[in-house]
Amino acid sequence: MPLFFCCFLFGGGWAQPLSWAQDVLDPPSGQNAARGGAQQFFTYGPQGKEGSAALVPNEALREGIFLKRSQHSGQLTKKAIQLMQQGDLEAGRQVLWDALAYAPNNSMAHSLLAQIYFWRGQDNEALAILEQAGRYQVKGDLIYGFLDRALSFFRQKNRNTPELPLVSVARYKGNKQCAISFNFDDGSKTVYTKVLPVFDRYGYKATVLINPGWTADQPGNPYYGSWEEWKDASERGHEIGNHSMNHRYLMQVPDDVFDSEIHESYYLISEKIGTPPRSFAFPFDQSTPEMISKVSEFHPAIRDREYLSRLSDNLFLPVYGGDKFSAAVGRKLIDLVLVKRLWVVAECHAMQTEEVMTFKPITEEFLEDHLAYIKENEEQIWVDTFANTYSYIAERQASRFNILESGDGRLVFVLDHDLDKSFYQVPLTVVVNVSPQAPSSAGAQREDGRALSVAIRGACLILDVLPGPEPVTVFWD
Ligand SMILES: [Zn+2]
Repeated sequence: MPLFFCCFLFGGGWAQPLSWAQDVLDPPSGQNAARGGAQQFFTYGPQGKEGSAALVPNEALREGIFLKRSQHSGQLTKKAIQLMQQGDLEAGRQVLWDALAYAPNNSMAHSLLAQIYFWRGQDNEALAILEQAGRYQVKGDLIYGFLDRALSFFRQKNRNTPELPLVSVARYKGNKQCAISFNFDDGSKTVYTKVLPVFDRYGYKATVLINPGWTADQPGNPYYGSWEEWKDASERGHEIGNHSMNHRYLMQVPDDVFDSEIHESYYLISEKIGTPPRSFAFPFDQSTPEMISKVSEFHPAIRDREYLSRLSDNLFLPVYGGDKFSAAVGRKLIDLVLVKRLWVVAECHAMQTEEVMTFKPITEEFLEDHLAYIKENEEQIWVDTFANTYSYIAERQASRFNILESGDGRLVFVLDHDLDKSFYQVPLTVVVNVSPQAPSSAGAQREDGRALSVAIRGACLILDVLPGPEPVTVFWD
């Protein structure tokens, strides 16, 4: 039984200390608890089961210390729930962090912390907690179970849309509500044989982050994809990114080893695939600012919260798959992404098969259902590779309009940026707001007369423009 790389540090050998079922209990409508509808927001799970030795796997029983820590973490979670029900969210929050210090794989503590941060409007903290939860062996359905209640709250809050300026760049390509990029780490052969064919069928592109030190071309590595397979995937439009040479824990290697782990794989991917990798993800998602700075010299797109949050306040890097990560929870995640208008880089690993054990595999049923649900909402969801979504968002941030002429059904502008155009070459979606007019016809062209296609959406004109120094003219009637 081969064991693929695991993108987590702790938790694998930990007991699951809490066995909360999915039921939802209403918190009491006490004096403080009910402020502003909180009682309809928080999902506490059932109580009284934490720390039950009967529910802990045998190996954890042998490891008494784990059991003790797990039990203590469960007791703290129970305490936090009491505090939250009494309306003291801040005290609850502090106790939940303590609970996680004792057992970092405590699913309920993660879920409750995310709920508190969302309730307070601290979305980035909430999303970071959900991301952190995904790095442990936690139950996805339990972590995200609160979305049943929370989503309707979020939708009500989001009713008001701000007034658009005359001309702007849409947050996401095609003026869609959100962007999703699927990453498959570690180069499992199942990604080539079972995952990418499903993406092809739906017409979506994925990013595969490989470790060139582990391919099927070497003897004894049949569970990894081969260079021929990754090259074929690349030719079909999927992205092959760099996940370091050998998936070592780079936080603890000397500088020369770090450099060779990054560069050797960069050059090998460039040579074997025919184009240099544009995306990078650190093994175990662990990095320092110095490591990021070195990697960014070669790879503009680095999957790291700190690095990417320079570009976006709406970032979400969830880890998919694993125990109890159902298709239903996958749909709720998409609903969250839509309502919060997020840029999602989803970290996935292999496809589950009988022969291969990997970290947090996804199932064929999950992937099929997930992509089908995204397809149902494709008017609102932009799916593309990590490098492409990264490029769009970076270009959008760096681009400036220079309005040369405006009025009477005509607008002339330059949209440009100073980024390296050999990498940043994703067209930006420009929205021209001509309200209160609702035009019946519209067109656009570059200075040399080349036409650009324009779509009319109510009182807005939508067109894709590759940033550059030449003016663009938009006209409407
Ligand atoms: Zn990995």
